[in-house]
Amino acid sequence: MVAAKLEIHQFPCLKDNYGVLIRDPSTGIVAAIDAPTAEEVAAAAADKGWRITHILTTHRHGDHTDGNLALKASTACTIIGPRGEADQVPGIDKAVGEGDTFTLGSLEVRVLETPGHTRGHITYWIPAAEVAFAGDTLFALGCGRVFEGTAEQMWRSLEKLAKLPPQTTVYCGHEYTLSNGRFALTIEPENEALQARVREIEAQRARNEPTVPTRIDVELATNPFLRPHSAAIRKRLGLENAPDWQVFGEVRERKNKS
Ligand SMILES: [Zn+2]
Repeated sequence: MVAAKLEIHQFPCLKDNYGVLIRDPSTGIVAAIDAPTAEEVAAAAADKGWRITHILTTHRHGDHTDGNLALKASTACTIIGPRGEADQVPGIDKAVGEGDTFTLGSLEVRVLETPGHTRGHITYWIPAAEVAFAGDTLFALGCGRVFEGTAEQMWRSLEKLAKLPPQTTVYCGHEYTLSNGRFALTIEPENEALQARVREIEAQRARNEPTVPTRIDVELATNPFLRPHSAAIRKRLGLENAPDWQVFGEVRERKNKS
């Protein structure tokens, strides 16, 4: 599957972040998806015997960019990041936005603007490898907090991700899945796929295993933030006739308070 075209190495860092390194085996190009800390990203690359050539920044937050400058100094890598907040991405060489494509080794990377968590947040999608790197926009069974946008804007961003091919693997910035799952069960307790998934996640976390990456089809079936069309959710929230973004917004509000 994915590994045939792109090698991917995910590793935990900081408290609950994930760092990801991707390598195009045909050219040896290696990109770090975000750089929470230079030390941890460099150590992960050394573990694999990989040489970092690029950093792909999803958004400006420090737990995604604090490693940029030191990694650039030690590897002379090229830093690509979001045009909408380029002035806040340390060391950025190339700013990209909606609809842009660029090549990474032999692979085409497509850029989706997914604002809401931050005003410039972007997602990197590599169609040939059926993988997307969604930063803090979409989480397994959750989504990022809406710090800099509106609920409607965040919903439009999530909608874009929901429309990716269903078999797309999605990497996200944090391991929040267990608390997301427990919250999700308060929103759609009758969802049997969700019930089964939360049981699986509890077992994975008890073994200290990551629950990320996830897949678009799995999220569509179980993530309440992608399910504002669900009649059960609408009924529970008393929003039978509201637009999808409003249902999403109410779910987000409840999560903020949970
Ligand atoms: Zn963030």
